[in-house]
Amino acid sequence: GKVDHECEVLVLGAGPGGYSAAFRSADLGMNTIIVERYATLGGVCLNVGCIPSKALLHTTSVMDEVKTMAKHGITFGAPKIEIDQLRGYKDSVIAKLTGGLAGMAKARKVKVVRGLGRFLDANHVEVELTDGTGQDLTGKKEVVHFQKAIIAAGSQPVKLPFLPEDPRIVDSTGALLLKSIPKRMLVIGGGIIGLEMATVYSTLGSRIDIAEMMDGLMAGADRDLEKVWEKFNAGRFEKIMLKTRAAKAEVKPDGIQVTFEGENAPAEPQTYDLVLVAVGRTPNGKKIDAGLAGVQVDERGFISVDKQMRTNVPNIFAIGDLVGQPMLAHKAVHEGHVAAEAAFGEKSYFDAKQIPSVAYTDPEVAWAGLTEEQCKSQGIAYEKGLFPWAASGRAIANGRDEGFTKLIFDANTHRIIGGGIVGTHAGDLIGEVCLAIEMGADAVDIGKTIHPHPTLGESVGLAAEAAHGHCTDLP
Ligand code: FAD
Repeated sequence: GKVDHECEVLVLGAGPGGYSAAFRSADLGMNTIIVERYATLGGVCLNVGCIPSKALLHTTSVMDEVKTMAKHGITFGAPKIEIDQLRGYKDSVIAKLTGGLAGMAKARKVKVVRGLGRFLDANHVEVELTDGTGQDLTGKKEVVHFQKAIIAAGSQPVKLPFLPEDPRIVDSTGALLLKSIPKRMLVIGGGIIGLEMATVYSTLGSRIDIAEMMDGLMAGADRDLEKVWEKFNAGRFEKIMLKTRAAKAEVKPDGIQVTFEGENAPAEPQTYDLVLVAVGRTPNGKKIDAGLAGVQVDERGFISVDKQMRTNVPNIFAIGDLVGQPMLAHKAVHEGHVAAEAAFGEKSYFDAKQIPSVAYTDPEVAWAGLTEEQCKSQGIAYEKGLFPWAASGRAIANGRDEGFTKLIFDANTHRIIGGGIVGTHAGDLIGEVCLAIEMGADAVDIGKTIHPHPTLGESVGLAAEAAHGHCTDLP
């Protein structure tokens, strides 16, 4: 058949995994093509994920902080919300970053073929070109011949089949569009994405209910961390309904009427102006005809890979959300680098000791390595060092001393194996814990490291001291 483009490395999808893989491939000197259906690079993370959510969370955290200034003797008037301008701000942040990526692709001579790609065999992808907006298919097709391919097609929000089609029932992408500020909003799913969006909308003025099937919010985090978030946010939401699921929804003239089932279900159906479904994400592995290239895709759409990110087909790699949990941008980026280096023939492996998670809520909740709950369930002997922010000069000066920093050490070696932080800026602070875990630091290394005073970061050193970091020789 006819071939329109030739390359050494084809990268399917331009999210954090895809662009990282493509840029590393090009930097290694390989002729690289990205196939991406949307008009901009950056995938979910930059366009409808990490970045727009953080732009809005920054705005709402300033709004919340301003309210606390009254007790400092400073008062501000009630906020006036120009929603078009707020949306514009968020869009400008996205544009700056996706524009930056386009420039970086150009500088590296990475060609971008815009369209929906599908494998024809283990050396060809057919691309149905999209129009300039990236939304519509044009029917025109081009074929790319490649030596190696890196699949980075990402994931999509899970849909709940019983929900009707209605513009007032949205996923995270719809919620980030910020079309209006609903009076009453339901968030289905109490994971990180649901809670971040609930934080944004509640500060903007929505009255929010959260329904979660499990017995706790923020799955994956230790309960002691999550409890601090929950206590701090006690007044923020109308109802947090644990062990409760949305069972039925009907479109009514005055809103979406939802019937709940479960332990904390309200007896009466509730009516909402906006329903956000945030119940998880599903990989796009089944939509790319990977089977025609011989690549095995499991029934859920995940593609399994070895430590070099190689699929069962030797010249085809896969990275990011579609190779499994955790579905996070920083994991995708590192996997992208490994895949590109392995495609080049280097002996690179994905061998992370830890992948951090952060809920950018208020307060933030961040954790890395093993949690206490994992230690317990895996029977790992551990000891912990905990530093309450109520004893941190900086946290008190900031008026935000509800948090704590917790480090988890192997009881035998005293090396750090995990850590969790809840409090303002926890997501930034966890980076030191990540480095300590990767470096195999023990409690003394961390406890004897001089941290600047007065900072929130000191809490990491002090938590280590609280365990064994005051010793010169560990027992
Ligand atoms: P994606 O980012 O999903 O990109 C895949 C790309 O492939 C897309 O651009 C898609 O258009 C393209 N594509 C798919 N199929 C085809 C095809 N057949 N042909 C052509 N192109 C195709 N993670 C964090 O680490 N931190 C956060 O704060 C964070 N916040 C989030 C907030 C929200 C609201 C959401 C939804 C997600 C968030 N995530 C966050 C998760 C993060 O966005 C993902 O883990 C990350 O984007 C995954 O990167 P990826 O490269 O695997 O794929």
